Amino acid sequence: MASDLHTHTTYSDGRLAPEELIAAAKKVGLSYLAITDHDTVEGISHLYENGLYPTRGIRLIPGIEFSAHHPSNEVHILGYNIDIYHAPMLERLNDITEARWTRFSEIIEKLNALGYEISETEVLLLADGSKSISRSHIGRALVKRGYFDTIGAAFDALIGYGKPAYVEHYRLEIDECINLIKSAGGIPVLAHPILVEDDALVERICRMGIEGIEVFYPKHDAEATKRYLAMAERHGLLVSGGSDFHGIPTRLPQNLGDFTIEDKWAEKFYRPVQKL
Ligand SMILES: [Zn+2]
Ligand SMILES: [Zn+2]
Repeated sequence: MASDLHTHTTYSDGRLAPEELIAAAKKVGLSYLAITDHDTVEGISHLYENGLYPTRGIRLIPGIEFSAHHPSNEVHILGYNIDIYHAPMLERLNDITEARWTRFSEIIEKLNALGYEISETEVLLLADGSKSISRSHIGRALVKRGYFDTIGAAFDALIGYGKPAYVEHYRLEIDECINLIKSAGGIPVLAHPILVEDDALVERICRMGIEGIEVFYPKHDAEATKRYLAMAERHGLLVSGGSDFHGIPTRLPQNLGDFTIEDKWAEKFYRPVQKL
């Protein structure tokens, strides 16, 4: 049996609503599924508050993915089994959400100044209910307008890091992400270490109180997987893995179930639901 510990829903930049994602996961026969939206747990509270959680037929792990602040590298911290009603965490998540909206307006202003006709309203319509507006949504609107063929091309030309319409993120520091996840009762895990692009930094993060590392990831080749597995053993960390499924046709993996991990890794992250 197979599992997936890294997925996104409409509550961040994924295309499927949480209940649709769960239905898709059941359809492909996943045993464990973690929902890890960017900087929000509202996809999980949506399920909980609508009587859809606990989920029948699949073991759901409530999660989150923080984008941590680092001056030069991309560091994402996953949190598993967090208490989604932990007040100090919700407060910080609110700060992040507010900053996201400000950033969103600033990016649209820059695009308009550069001559791209795009409005906040049309991006919001495309984002359809997402509580965590992101550059992917803006990219999608630019593609729809015919300015680019793919969201990736829009990032490369305009909204990617350092490009003309880029605006800096408000982000928590790495240690704050780790501590916040722990204070909410969760397990902090370093996401996709290959995207950090600096193994010395990955090693340092392994010593910052992290409890797991995402060894299995679509962009890890056999060599990288082996290297991060050895790193997990060396630091006594849990081994996690997931597809980073967004449900976006141009972004791999296209289908849930295309990239999975063995249950023996996933089950270490699962806790019974009563904790909520
Ligand atoms: Zn990530
Ligand atoms: Zn992700």
